[in-house]
Amino acid sequence: MVDALSYAIDGEDRLVRVDEGFYRFAEENGWDGAADCLGRSLWDFVAGEQVKKVQRLLVRRVRDGVRDVRLPFRCESPESIREMEIRIDATGSRRLVLFSATLTYEEDREQPQPLYDADAPRSESDFLAMCAWCDRFLVSGEWVEVEEAARRLELFRRPRMPVLNHGICPQCSRQLLAA
Ligand SMILES: [Zn+2]
Repeated sequence: MVDALSYAIDGEDRLVRVDEGFYRFAEENGWDGAADCLGRSLWDFVAGEQVKKVQRLLVRRVRDGVRDVRLPFRCESPESIREMEIRIDATGSRRLVLFSATLTYEEDREQPQPLYDADAPRSESDFLAMCAWCDRFLVSGEWVEVEEAARRLELFRRPRMPVLNHGICPQCSRQLLAA
């Protein structure tokens, strides 16, 4: 089992550096084409539109000056549950972003479990409101930036990402009305 991996993307989100852990992790998770991933877009390897959207926002925030974000991340397979902490760092002036993940918890399932059924009915907590203008998220009545929302809601630790509902926050609404 891989207990640490790291990878880096350039200003165009292309994978420019991956370590041995990345290759092993990709293999364990059955990622297609990971063996020659260098130069390809990171987003080719991220499953799910909602996950992609939130991760893209995080990368943008890190590049725009947040610099360093740490979040719990959960990877499930039919046989096991793994929790990792992922750190996303902006480095230098070339807009390189470095991702490094370390294993924090691992549990083998006694009985293999089918992965989550994407078509299962959704509950209230499966939806997350997002402002289409400023890209902030509504968490417990407060509009917060993506890294704060990901931290408070443990977005990447859930079995699946909530569906994003696009709306407008009161601040943006006022600015638009005033314009
Ligand atoms: Zn807004």
